[in-house]
Amino acid sequence: MKKMTIRQCIAAAIILIVPMVCSAQWDKYFENRGLRIDYTHSGRQGVDYFTIEAMKEIPFYSASRTNLIDFTDNGAYLISLYDKSTGELIFSKGVSSLFNEWLSTEQASKMCGSFEEVAIVPCPKAEVEVEIAFSVRDSANRFKEVVRYAIDKSEIRSVEVFTKKANPMRPKLITLNRTDREINQRVDLVLIPVGYTVQDKEKMMQDLNDMASYMFSEEPYKSLRDCIEITAVERYASESGIGGLKDSKIKNSDLGVEYNTFSSPRYIMTRNLWDLYDVVDQVPCDAMILVCNSDTYGGGGIYNYYATCYMGAKSKEVIVHEFSHSFAGLGDEYSDNDSDAGLTSLKAEPYENNITTLIDFSKKWGDMMDKDTPVPTPATKQYENKVGVFEGASYQSKGFYRPYQHCMMRDLTPFCPVCTKSIKDMVNLYCR
Ligand SMILES: [Zn+2]
Repeated sequence: MKKMTIRQCIAAAIILIVPMVCSAQWDKYFENRGLRIDYTHSGRQGVDYFTIEAMKEIPFYSASRTNLIDFTDNGAYLISLYDKSTGELIFSKGVSSLFNEWLSTEQASKMCGSFEEVAIVPCPKAEVEVEIAFSVRDSANRFKEVVRYAIDKSEIRSVEVFTKKANPMRPKLITLNRTDREINQRVDLVLIPVGYTVQDKEKMMQDLNDMASYMFSEEPYKSLRDCIEITAVERYASESGIGGLKDSKIKNSDLGVEYNTFSSPRYIMTRNLWDLYDVVDQVPCDAMILVCNSDTYGGGGIYNYYATCYMGAKSKEVIVHEFSHSFAGLGDEYSDNDSDAGLTSLKAEPYENNITTLIDFSKKWGDMMDKDTPVPTPATKQYENKVGVFEGASYQSKGFYRPYQHCMMRDLTPFCPVCTKSIKDMVNLYCR
């Protein structure tokens, strides 16, 4: 056996100590459950208002208890909790949202918008006074705090009240992939069927099973099966199908889930986030996939928000792609979708791990490249299966670069090495 050098010993000691320190942070500040904060995010480009509308305890906080501070620097927004007495940061999480995407629409250039959002955070102990802060990105893509509130604990509805009054029956759950891991050491992925009536039950069960198997159809997810618990919620809609399509006869699409979000025909989303979270309040949930009862191509995925997918011939690839937006925060590596133009700025380094403008490439995948690979890298046969810096990504043909010529995030082919690493790193953050 090889002897450890002093540096390796120190590194090993730090790895052993860090979870103990963080776990102590958990015990000091948090109860063994979650706190759901419903808020509205309103405003327009450069103007953000965050208004807390309701707070309630939920039975589970299912993400890691050791990785309480988000060091990934991903997402358009950051939600942070501070110990009010010392000012110490005790929790943070990067998120993106439909509001952020709405900002690039024509409507947003003329008027303000208001969107439902939800933060799931660990529930602070009764004796700990906590402040919540909301941060947005500045023009250089650095987080800038917009507002900080003291959380008024008297306004939090307790888990018992919520369970009995608002949600009298725990939903029926179907386990589709079981792991041997504890709740806080795995990814809890919840599948929510949308637009299935009781008469559609048989198809719904088949679609949920198919969706769970699609999740493990591609690497690196295939190898991460032991870290991802998949549970489906059995629930039914009053109308069959998904609204928003041309000539659709559906009056009230289930949970407000519709095609044609922001006039993009295949983009399936809902603005009814509070109704959606009501479905998973009683379920350990780190990520959601809305399984949509429609065979018309479509889907969507926003980081730490949710992913949607239709059920048809390309669903396998679509959900792996969309889930990688919503779970791992990966950006699109394609350059040919004008409807999404405007989300990206050439003046700043993007926060997605798999996209660069070369403004600060030191944060990105340079360490995965051969030293003799040129930057930018020509998309030629010589660099066909090599990590490089290829122009064309993030809906732009110029100025944005991707790490590989082909990838699931570009053309639904297997994941490139950079995306593969990002997904594994994210799963590790939940599983350690
Ligand atoms: Zn990639």
